[in-house]
Amino acid sequence: MNLYEKTATELSDMLRRKECSAAEISQEVLERTETSEERIGAYITRCEDVMQQAEAVDKAIAEGRALHPLAGIPIALKDNISTKGIRTTCASRMLENYVPPYDAAVTEKVRRAGMVITGKTNMDEFAMGASTETSYMKVTHNPHNPEYVPGGSSGGSAAAVAAGETILSLGSDTGGSIRQPAALCGIVGLKPTYGSVSRYGLVAYASSLEQIGPMGKTVRDTAMLYSLICGRDQMDATTVRREYPDFASALSGKVQGLRIGVPREYFGDGICPEVSVAVWEGIRLLEQAGASVREISLPDTEYAVSAYYIIASAEASSNLARYDGVRYGFRAKHYKGLTDMYERTRSEGFGDEVKRRVMLGTFVLSSGYYDAYYKKARAAQQRIKRELADAFRECDILITPTYPTPAFPLGEKSDDPLKLYMSDICTVTANLSGLPAISVPCGKTASGLPMGMQMMAPAFSEQVLLNAAYAYETLCGGFWSGGTVI
Ligand code: GLN
Repeated sequence: MNLYEKTATELSDMLRRKECSAAEISQEVLERTETSEERIGAYITRCEDVMQQAEAVDKAIAEGRALHPLAGIPIALKDNISTKGIRTTCASRMLENYVPPYDAAVTEKVRRAGMVITGKTNMDEFAMGASTETSYMKVTHNPHNPEYVPGGSSGGSAAAVAAGETILSLGSDTGGSIRQPAALCGIVGLKPTYGSVSRYGLVAYASSLEQIGPMGKTVRDTAMLYSLICGRDQMDATTVRREYPDFASALSGKVQGLRIGVPREYFGDGICPEVSVAVWEGIRLLEQAGASVREISLPDTEYAVSAYYIIASAEASSNLARYDGVRYGFRAKHYKGLTDMYERTRSEGFGDEVKRRVMLGTFVLSSGYYDAYYKKARAAQQRIKRELADAFRECDILITPTYPTPAFPLGEKSDDPLKLYMSDICTVTANLSGLPAISVPCGKTASGLPMGMQMMAPAFSEQVLLNAAYAYETLCGGFWSGGTVI
């Protein structure tokens, strides 16, 4: 098996046993990227100093320095995560040439651990979308079938891992953007509890909903990366000070006594039967291993997508007000006066989807409509939160599909934003309620496209979640058998 097809866990062990060098790993990943990237299009920016980063790790190993287990492992970062000296575009014309003067908190942790940053990945513009098709920069293709979307908005991060163009990646999840592309590309993606990972240096879309999270080929890989990035950060006041265990080493794979809830609203209309069947097969597997399963009802799920799009757009309209052509980013070339400059800069700098959100957000926050929309959405959010809290009195985890369908052909939904919004039905409740949720692969369709199963748990129960996911992975005989796609 090629090195780029291996998991981070395997590579980390090989490095420790001196069976390969960090330079060899990076060399293989770069060669693979050279041959596959034209078909995949995962990266917006590829780092030029990959080999230097890897060689620095080899030098540290030779000197006998104590290193983090992820030292020397290649990682790609979504292009809304600030990287000092490396262009960070959010896949927008607005930030096409923006080079941040500082690192995000997670970037700093990744660098300090000696991970090798391979580049910045493609995404929906400002993370608004579910297929990576709203990117101003390029198209990303699903590594399982290049005519299909990779999911979004962290589509580049998912495709890069699935295609062997990196080993691990970071995405951000505001309404499903880590879990959805993970599902559609056949990898694992974790949306952590709100407040467990610093958002310092994450370009803001909807600040009260989003978290940065890890993506990998296996649950253990994902757990290792989560352990690295989580924790209190004084630069982000929403992060919570608490003990975060070493998640990977605490994985037991035991599910005896685990109480699984299966909310029927997540298996109704609009969920492709092939996906439902695959998820139910997964649930049965866990049941046979000793978990108990009960069907439950979460009727307020009905309001989730509407509430999400109102709240997310409201926050986006405020967060994106900073792109005014003055402080940073794009400025229109021709204008007459200040107001005209603002208008032209924003008209030319933002794509359609971003403009739609800014307009919608401004509308729902306007004095005439605030009560009718924003206030109601907040009330719905409270109900959804309460309903989930009640469910978790009787269940340890909930299992649902991640995405209602397998990947769809590129272009199929780009003219119909509502269709895309509806596909967030399974993922937005975790964001509205701040809960952790993970997507794990649960088989492929008859035509060979991956599907994802989502597990959700109470706040800060990542260990329970990762353990259940790991148990499922073990019962399946592993998600990753090596062998990258296309
Ligand atoms: N599809 C959702 C949206 O467009 C979620 C995106 C995300 O999680 N960043 O808002």
